[in-house]
Amino acid sequence: MDAEKNNCTDAGMVGYFLDNLCKTPRYSGSQEERQAARFIEEQFRGFGLKARREKYKFPNWNYSFSEASLVVEGKTISMPSIPMCYSAATPDKGITAPLIYLGQAEKEDLQGIDFKGKIGLVMGDLHGKDCTSDMLIRLNNSGLLAILVISPEFPYSWPVSLAFPTEWKDYIKLPLACLPYLAVYPLLKKNLEKANLKIKARNYNDVSANVIGEIKGKIDETIVVCSHYDTPHQCPGANDNGSGTAFVMELARIFGKTRPYRTLRFIAFGGEEKRSIGAWNHIIRKSNHLEKVVFAINADTIGAIIGRNLIHITGHPLLRKFVGKMAEANRFMVEIPTEICPWWSDHFSFNLCGIPSIWFHRPNCLKGYWEVHSIHDNLENTSPAEIARAANLSVQIIDAVANSRKMPFPKGIPADQKKEIKALTKRLGIRPLPN
Ligand SMILES: [Zn+2]
Repeated sequence: MDAEKNNCTDAGMVGYFLDNLCKTPRYSGSQEERQAARFIEEQFRGFGLKARREKYKFPNWNYSFSEASLVVEGKTISMPSIPMCYSAATPDKGITAPLIYLGQAEKEDLQGIDFKGKIGLVMGDLHGKDCTSDMLIRLNNSGLLAILVISPEFPYSWPVSLAFPTEWKDYIKLPLACLPYLAVYPLLKKNLEKANLKIKARNYNDVSANVIGEIKGKIDETIVVCSHYDTPHQCPGANDNGSGTAFVMELARIFGKTRPYRTLRFIAFGGEEKRSIGAWNHIIRKSNHLEKVVFAINADTIGAIIGRNLIHITGHPLLRKFVGKMAEANRFMVEIPTEICPWWSDHFSFNLCGIPSIWFHRPNCLKGYWEVHSIHDNLENTSPAEIARAANLSVQIIDAVANSRKMPFPKGIPADQKKEIKALTKRLGIRPLPN
């Protein structure tokens, strides 16, 4: 491909992909998720890629009913709520109990509190500052009946969908629901007496799929370009992650007619919102030959209208230098931190296999995200032009990596980062790779 053609991405096409993907939420295992998979697969095929759907089984969870209210000075105030992923159900008639505020529910917040028979109100997502399952275990054993959370990462007037790693699901024994931060905040200043919570939810075995489109190169060494296409509950997921999926589709369209030196594998993963269960299922399959994959580009949440570009690097310092040079030549304003980002998106699964990655990301506020994981993550709040800009830079990056005989940066992940990945895997309870 001619590297001079650096404006080959088409924001109109990106908009078309987004419109088709993001009419509804695409919850893992749902019909809507399957519909999106079909659309992506058809498009891949239309671009000349060898397309397939990679089905996988996973432990799913869903809720059919959620109702919460707080009693303040004798008045019952109902609250919009979303149960946290893997939340237990309440008894059919719901739970009514005195409410107790637990701060962030860290060890030191809980000393000397009598929890028995109460509903806890927690500021945070129950991962704790260590991001381990310890907090859940502590709360299970506390005598609390249920927990309501307000997330300081999402300090807005709507509830958000909050998830746990699939690995932690057996630690979740209580009904857990997220309430809108700004709706609860004024009530906290008053005398919060009681809370009512009713959740109907269940765990079940389910099936989802990754969608894969491949362009065979002259050699088997492979570059992965990926995103996830699933969403949390209630969330049209235009930015998280219709944006990344439109990015992948646009790049598949552009490269579909080329014959690169290295093989290109475009993947739309399912189940990222279940902490990358789709990507995990991809990397553990022998038939996917991860040993041939030399580089992964991931795009997750890149379409914020007002935001700031980040490319997170896991890999050699020369990979960072290479990406920095490319960004500069493209006048793509971006911060490029080198860091290990477990769970935040699907590239981490590749890092587990020793594969370096870059993650395109465009957050739109300093801490957390404005609309993400809520009904406001919609087409209106997502910019095809920003997605096309990131895709433009990626055309250059993919072209340089796929078509040069010698890779522009060393393969693999440096030893210090590998060590960090190993330590994180242990601390966070991520299941080890099968041999
Ligand atoms: Zn995402």
